[in-house]
Amino acid sequence: MLKIGSHVSFSEKGLLRAANEAVTYGSSTFMIYTGAPQNTRRKPIESLYINEGKQVMLEAGIGEIVVHAPYIVNLGSYKDDTYRLAVDFLQEEIRRTNQIGVRNIVLHPGAFTEKDAEYGIARIAEGLTEVLEGTKETDVNIALETMAGKGTEIGRTFEELAAIIDKVPGNDRLTICMDTCHIHDAGYDVVNDFDGVLRKFDDIIGLERLAVVHVNDSKNPQGAAKDRHAPVGSGWIGFEAISRVVGHESLKDKPFVLETPWIGKTEATERPMYEAEIALLRGDAEERFGGEFLTDVERLHHFFEKEDIQPRLFVLNTWELLKSDAKAKKADPREPLERLYDMVIENRMFTGDYSEEAINQRLTAMLAGKDYLAKL
Ligand code: FE
Ligand code: FE
Ligand code: ZN
Repeated sequence: MLKIGSHVSFSEKGLLRAANEAVTYGSSTFMIYTGAPQNTRRKPIESLYINEGKQVMLEAGIGEIVVHAPYIVNLGSYKDDTYRLAVDFLQEEIRRTNQIGVRNIVLHPGAFTEKDAEYGIARIAEGLTEVLEGTKETDVNIALETMAGKGTEIGRTFEELAAIIDKVPGNDRLTICMDTCHIHDAGYDVVNDFDGVLRKFDDIIGLERLAVVHVNDSKNPQGAAKDRHAPVGSGWIGFEAISRVVGHESLKDKPFVLETPWIGKTEATERPMYEAEIALLRGDAEERFGGEFLTDVERLHHFFEKEDIQPRLFVLNTWELLKSDAKAKKADPREPLERLYDMVIENRMFTGDYSEEAINQRLTAMLAGKDYLAKL
């Protein structure tokens, strides 16, 4: 069975809360931060509802899940206190991950700040060696994440990740988390040649190291080195390419984790589009949302056709405009999905009392394309 899910909250009731949230999206896997990703304060393991959460997972058929290390720790830092904090905290985090029963903890390798990439790679390898050495009693793997290459972050090429792995003596507990937005932003051609990307990955790192896939669209074109996630279908990568990633034979049985944002007006009250994204990528949107859902999506297709708007082109052209025309962006900063949403509202497409989420779910399905709809 396809393992697909999203990042979910681990606050309050820990694993119980996370598992329950994942179930509402129809997930078969999920990812958690064991506390706030921007700090290192953590609750004692006894207060994380581990057994209760596992019960919910069992009932929902959720097996493998993933932990993400906080992104403030920096193993690449030349500053001794920053580096030390990263090493110590990661060891604790790995023990916590082990206690939760999770196999892979995703880590942003680090940033070289005022030094250079070579320094960063050596420093990260040194840190990882120490972290692995100190957590030998666990069988938790550290999944180094492929990065977009913003700022001075390390891990923007497969070569950099391979160089780190090579420098760590006992490296069998080092795996990789491949993030579609990040590799696209780093310059890899996810859209037209994902086979080639995987071949490269296999040559340089080895596919056997690949443990987790982060599934995100991107708000920026290939090679932009930006790292801004978009909902599946409303970014530069597009639904079709992402669906090829999720269905790729070489990635069979890997956990696919969405980290896509909510785009909309009612920010605080709505959820990300995970439920729709998961159902669309798995191909069970009709079962999940009912027959009317697809009728609605067809109506959207008709409507935009009548308006002479080709949804995929509209998305790409809007991003292009926002990128290249500062004046136009200032006059109208709305992202593609929000613009489509506004057209739906202005034209009173749906008479029912659909929430913004319900409309965005239908738009997301529309962005999967007409061919996709025909296949269902
Ligand atoms: Fe990450
Ligand atoms: Fe990611
Ligand atoms: Zn990212």
